Amino acid sequence: MTPVDLHCHSTVSDGLLPPREVVRLAAGRGCRLLALTDHDELGGLADAADEAAQHGVRFVNGVEVSVSWGKHTLHIVGLGFDAANETLREGLAGVRAGRDARAVAMSDSLARAGIPDVLEGARRHADNPEIISRAHFARHLVERGLAKDVKSVFKKYLVRGKPGFVEHEWARLHDAIAWIRGAGGVAVLAHPARYEIGNETMRVLLTEFRRLGGEGIEVVSGVHGVHEVARFGRLAQEFGLLASSGTDYHATGEGARDPGLNPDLPLGCEPVWSRWLEAA
Ligand code: AMP
Ligand code: MN
Ligand code: MN
Ligand code: MN
Repeated sequence: MTPVDLHCHSTVSDGLLPPREVVRLAAGRGCRLLALTDHDELGGLADAADEAAQHGVRFVNGVEVSVSWGKHTLHIVGLGFDAANETLREGLAGVRAGRDARAVAMSDSLARAGIPDVLEGARRHADNPEIISRAHFARHLVERGLAKDVKSVFKKYLVRGKPGFVEHEWARLHDAIAWIRGAGGVAVLAHPARYEIGNETMRVLLTEFRRLGGEGIEVVSGVHGVHEVARFGRLAQEFGLLASSGTDYHATGEGARDPGLNPDLPLGCEPVWSRWLEAA
């Protein structure tokens, strides 16, 4: 295992632990380098950085930006940027602003399918009113007994084609990368196996991502199996992208692993984190 985790969430977006507790959990597991990457939001970084310093964990600012690329939603992780950068902050505020209207539309659509009052319930799960996520809807629908767990609730209600899914325009790929780079950060394509994108389109995406200034790709992710790690390890090398690793931790029991440690990168991959560990 590698004591690096460059993708995890707190209550500032759709995680279940406050930023300091995420850091403490990672530190306790032996993490040496951590990024908190809440969705479209930088509000947890100061606390997380402070807590990390107390535990001797090297901390890197992070964010996970929601992006629309054609009909696909992509997630771009930004790492190592200046969190005071105005253009980045304004860009993220714009992305957050769309979430509320989308949540209303999701709730209306679920009501038409016979499930009323979901918005109120989902909001109770959202600590940060600016970030209402499908994860909050999922937790509420589980508590209403509509599915046995978050994973099955997504399948039944919250993915494209299901009543709780509403099309939404997120940031443009070009803008997300420009905001991150403009603030001195590195743009990383998050959990590439998660997208419903065939081989050909994946190559188009990686070519465009690279051309727009994207520099990294998550090879190791809490949502990747061993075959996916191998596949994206090869693609990282072929496209000259740095490899990243992140648990995508949200809550203990909801995903594959707790924050702080990840399986080693495949041989031949160049880690995105060398610059931060060597600076330590
Ligand atoms: P949103 O940005 O509001 O569309 O919500 C996306 C979030 O929902 C992701 O960051 C995950 O936390 C969660 N999510 C998406 N798909 C799934 C899934 N199939 N199973 C569990 N959680 C998911
Ligand atoms: Mn999430
Ligand atoms: Mn994501
Ligand atoms: Mn994530």
